[in-house]
Amino acid sequence: MEHLDTAGNYTAVTIAANIHHIKSTLPDGVELVAVSKFHPAEAIMAAYQAGQRIFGESRAQELTAKAPVLPDDIRWHFIGHLQRNKIRQIMPHVSLIESVDSERLLNAIDRISGEEGRITRVLMQVHVAAEETKFGFSPDELLDYFRNRRFEKLTATHICGIMGMATNTDNNARVAADFQAIHDCFTRIREIAPGLRGFDIVSMGMSDDYPMAISHGSTLVRVGTAIFGHRQY
Ligand SMILES: *Cc1c(COP(=O)(O)O)cnc(C)c1O
Repeated sequence: MEHLDTAGNYTAVTIAANIHHIKSTLPDGVELVAVSKFHPAEAIMAAYQAGQRIFGESRAQELTAKAPVLPDDIRWHFIGHLQRNKIRQIMPHVSLIESVDSERLLNAIDRISGEEGRITRVLMQVHVAAEETKFGFSPDELLDYFRNRRFEKLTATHICGIMGMATNTDNNARVAADFQAIHDCFTRIREIAPGLRGFDIVSMGMSDDYPMAISHGSTLVRVGTAIFGHRQY
């Protein structure tokens, strides 16, 4: 069986096999986001035909182009840095914004959700990795936000949990420590903000590290390359 088509992309059969394989390794309670950024609608349809319903995109323009031409029961997760001037545009399409990386963005999402008559579900992005460039709250900033119950002023946003990334390294001990730090942050928030409802998602783990993320308590893994192959940027 050929894995690649003439354009060098994974075939529908390969994509389906990858989905089935990954799902077979996920424990109960862990969901799969198929990260489809930079992959065409045909690749997404191959995963959809294999039963996948949650897809992740990282750019507003790409999401708003793809969502209308793909099935209605796809649940799109936004996983990239979101500019405030793109919030309104993606809002009708997304079921979860995983990458809320500042309070300013969160407050803008809340205001626009209110104006649009929606409740937007979000995750807070926490930054623990060694890389300087990644967006997100530090664990301390996040704990401060919840300790001071600043979420109580939100009227049209439901904070469903947190999202994070481990350092991009071969050093397994570092990756494990990063996932542990993300999960510890989640646990602390639940302790210091009693009454916070529906805060139960820990989104962590990508193609290279999702089994490790699961062993540290991930409930949502975001896998792109291991499903669709390498992206051509
Ligand atoms: C691209 C991306 C992924 C998927 O990465 P792979 O290594 O291709 O699995 C997961 N999470 C985020 C936030 C991403 O931007």
